Amino acid sequence: MIQIAIDGPGGAGKSTISKAVAAKLGIVYVDTGALYRTVGYYVRSKEVDPHDREGVGALLGEISIEVKYVDGTQKVFLNGEDLGDRIRTPEMSMYASAVSAIPAVRAFLLETQKDIARKNSVIMDGRDIGTVILPNADVKIYLTASAECRAKRRYDELIAKGQTVNYEDVLREMNERDEADSSREIAPAQAAADAIVFDNTGMNLEESVDAIIKLVKEKTESGETDDTPPEQKAPSDKKGKEKEKEPRTDSRLYRVIYAIFAGIVGWLFQIRVINQQNEPTKGGYLVCGNHTSATDAVVICYGFRKHQVRLMAKKELFKIPVLAPLIRMLGAFPIDRSGSDVGAIKTSVKLLKEGKCMGMFPQGHRYPHEDPRSTPVKNGAALIATRTHADVVPVFIMRKNHAFKLFRRTYLVIGEPIPYESFAYNPEASGEYARITEIIFDRICTLGEEFAKEQKQKKQSKKK
Ligand code: C5P
Repeated sequence: MIQIAIDGPGGAGKSTISKAVAAKLGIVYVDTGALYRTVGYYVRSKEVDPHDREGVGALLGEISIEVKYVDGTQKVFLNGEDLGDRIRTPEMSMYASAVSAIPAVRAFLLETQKDIARKNSVIMDGRDIGTVILPNADVKIYLTASAECRAKRRYDELIAKGQTVNYEDVLREMNERDEADSSREIAPAQAAADAIVFDNTGMNLEESVDAIIKLVKEKTESGETDDTPPEQKAPSDKKGKEKEKEPRTDSRLYRVIYAIFAGIVGWLFQIRVINQQNEPTKGGYLVCGNHTSATDAVVICYGFRKHQVRLMAKKELFKIPVLAPLIRMLGAFPIDRSGSDVGAIKTSVKLLKEGKCMGMFPQGHRYPHEDPRSTPVKNGAALIATRTHADVVPVFIMRKNHAFKLFRRTYLVIGEPIPYESFAYNPEASGEYARITEIIFDRICTLGEEFAKEQKQKKQSKKK
């Protein structure tokens, strides 16, 4: 599986070039702009102002978007209807740009985009592909060209489609749209820190395609990519090559304890870590898991090997004579679960801002027997993530016998980290913490459900 992310301003040739590269490499081309255009189209059809956050947000519940590939060509269906070229007008470009600055719209389209990349080798173009949608892409390219060159290309494209436009208008509208896209608060159009910036001013299609294929080959042949399915890949470090030098954030005491006891703990609790590759190299992340057993904290500490995960634990545990010093040594810190504990939130924020890692159980209590989806969940993780902009690593813990018994198989499934930007947090909207909490907890539950399904399938195929 390969993921190629192409970002850049309008008219840089992203879609034409990506389509040609996809055909040459035999992979799927995903035009994410079409999704924003489709939302823009619906908003226009309902005569709602595309800048009106509430008005647009209220329409999202009425929209169902489906992406299909027919003979390698992407088709986007809006409530079952293929809109074809109706989304390709200059008016739709402006509508798409306006609605794309609304956090609820970005959140609405996020999973559709990620899902396509999970299932296919892709070259995906847009504005936030390398930064938000595919932060672990094998190759990231930021494609650009001079404004005049881009406007001329767009003008020729529209004329070829039989539209009546004039060059000056195209240039002005393109500049306005670029300015709006790159200065918006959320997911501004910008090159990822590890993207290759490629200026193709004056190059024709063939030259640009050849240059990009060369870049992809250089990356793939130098062994910088691998065949691991994207969902199992460790997140790429935001600063690219500094991966190996990432400083550890463990306390010295923790490192010694880990070295001595991890093997024993893993054996006593029969821990199997699934998708270890998802453990981030860089610190400063927040681990969130379901809470099913008294051993969960130990299981998380065991499973995260690169950094010490300092866990938030109920304050009552810090009163138990032998346990209290032990869990303090492991880096745990107390939370008073009777109300909103400002102290615990402050400690969490401080740890994450120092680049350390912390962990918590959004359910707040242990639910050994319940389906996690049916349990209440608190908003603390969302609050901490939005204060620190930390990425969230979802984990699911599966333990057959939930009591504190030894030698019972325990699985820790580590999920792909959720980049903070993908929450598309809007400080002005209400209910944001609940919405983000739902995203986090849904990921945790999905990890468990998918893993259980895999286990079942394995068992069934063994029986046969
Ligand atoms: O790429 P295209 O011109 O079709 O995109 C239309 C608009 O959709 C862009 O101007 C941008 O505002 C928005 N967009 C976005 N993020 C993407 C793709 C497009 O914000 N990934």
